[in-house]
Amino acid sequence: MKQVRGKSDRVVVVGAGLGGLATAMRLAAAGRSVTVVEREAVPGGRAGMWEVDGHRFDTGPTVLTMPNLIDDVFECLGEKTADWLELQTVSPLYRTYYPDGSRLDVHSNPQEMAAEIDAKIGPDEAGNYLRFVDFVSELYTLEMSDFIDRNIDSPLDLVTGNLARLAAIGGFRRLAPKVNEYLKDPRTQRVFSFQAMYAGMSPFDALAIYAVIAYMDSVAGVYFPKGGMHAVPVAMAAAAAKHGVEFHYNTEVAQVERSGERATAVITTNGLRIPADVVVLNPDLPIAHRDLLNREPWSIRRLNYSPSCAVLLAGSSATYSQIAHHNIHFGRAWKGVFSELIDQQQIMSDPSFFVTNATHSDPSLAPAGKQNYYVLFPTPNNRANIDWKQFGPQYRDQMVATLEENGYIGFGDSISVEKLTTPLDWEQAGMAAGAPFAASHSFTQTGPFRPRNLWGENVVFTGSGTTPGVGVPMVLISGKLAAQRITG
Ligand SMILES: Cc1cc2nc3c(=O)[nH]c(=O)nc-3n(C[C@H](O)[C@H](O)[C@H](O)COP(=O)(O)OP(=O)(O)OC[C@H]3O[C@@H](n4cnc5c(N)ncnc54)[C@H](O)[C@@H]3O)c2cc1C
Repeated sequence: MKQVRGKSDRVVVVGAGLGGLATAMRLAAAGRSVTVVEREAVPGGRAGMWEVDGHRFDTGPTVLTMPNLIDDVFECLGEKTADWLELQTVSPLYRTYYPDGSRLDVHSNPQEMAAEIDAKIGPDEAGNYLRFVDFVSELYTLEMSDFIDRNIDSPLDLVTGNLARLAAIGGFRRLAPKVNEYLKDPRTQRVFSFQAMYAGMSPFDALAIYAVIAYMDSVAGVYFPKGGMHAVPVAMAAAAAKHGVEFHYNTEVAQVERSGERATAVITTNGLRIPADVVVLNPDLPIAHRDLLNREPWSIRRLNYSPSCAVLLAGSSATYSQIAHHNIHFGRAWKGVFSELIDQQQIMSDPSFFVTNATHSDPSLAPAGKQNYYVLFPTPNNRANIDWKQFGPQYRDQMVATLEENGYIGFGDSISVEKLTTPLDWEQAGMAAGAPFAASHSFTQTGPFRPRNLWGENVVFTGSGTTPGVGVPMVLISGKLAAQRITG
């Protein structure tokens, strides 16, 4: 494995997102002197929080999977997650709704899920589902150690026994047809293939290896931290500080000072120079290359990005007894949704969307008698020509109208506080192409073909722009891979 060259005693980590925090914690555990420089007043980055009138809303991730990866990062400091975070299971993981009026609850326990499918669809599909669980469980076992949780320096590193096995079980076929080999009902087909969107791909284009994401949430389970997802980075930062990591909040880095390809310090916008043996960059990778390293190589300019999203946070007096914590509403269109978002770069004409009602699990997130709704509609990224400044308010009204058509009666009138985040806002917050889910995970942007986490002699990247990829679990792993570039 390639490593940074020269001394690595003093490390400056730019950014206290989950990637930066995971790296900082591992480096502190390995005895490095670590300074984290964060632009915002709080840690978390995309896993942020909006507080208003007694409501506390998560602004980014809401679905927490693979909590063992959080345990792993706390354990490296000799800490226990339970002393810092109160995690509860979310059941059902998702409630899913279909245009014919039917509903399917998703459970992580395969027997419980098979019973739900048996009751709603029939015994044959329940058996198909159990065979699908065996398939994704094997995918997970084959992929995790060789391809995800590992620094890969060359495509040749991919040639392992597990690669042949993955090919043999159909991992390199397209995801949707592979899922459909097992599942025959359009409802189960959607529930276990929509996760390709998390990787920025249509299930009709993504490789079947990405069905591993369905394993991570729909089989391994979904969790919710008391206080919301933002409690995760807050806990990580507090544990890091306890173990000697120094934090500078409200401090933006303007540039990495370097001599050729060797970083020597970071320079903040208020003129502070913080010397470093190694610099770790957590801002979105293409932006970090452009703005902090002053370089924009072709390998970065050529990247394709995942679709983006519009998120409406709404504090409301309305309650909806039919909904669960996480709710996915599928429109009539399916293949067409991906074609509109990705190929034609248009707004969905027949939307599928996601609603999280965090107060369902933790009422303390809103004042008494109030609810928090987090409504996410996928949209094209900013490579599309949509003027969000003008279109945003109109789209907000379309989102509310769609909610009302889907059973959220009186949603618009019940709102007391709200905030809309559009792709323009994501771009202004420093995400290339306004894409909060980073570069898509097409074959040519995965593994050794994804932007590398090591540049020059001593610059290391962490976070969703580099390997292994996007989402809380992958970003926590990216912190481990980044730290290994420094500690070996
Ligand atoms: C709306 C939304 C929903 C999502 N839903 C889920 C989900 O349900 N489940 C899931 O697993 N994942 C989800 N994700 C993805 C997940 O949140 C991200 O992949 C992950 O949080 C990214 O972490 P990161 O460390 O790569 O980057 P970031 O969180 O962006 O961290 C980068 C940090 O760098 C700081 N920074 C940037 N520039 C500078 C500078 N110049 N100087 C100093 N500091 C700087 C930023 O302020 C930030 O704190 C979602 C993301 C979004 C946006």
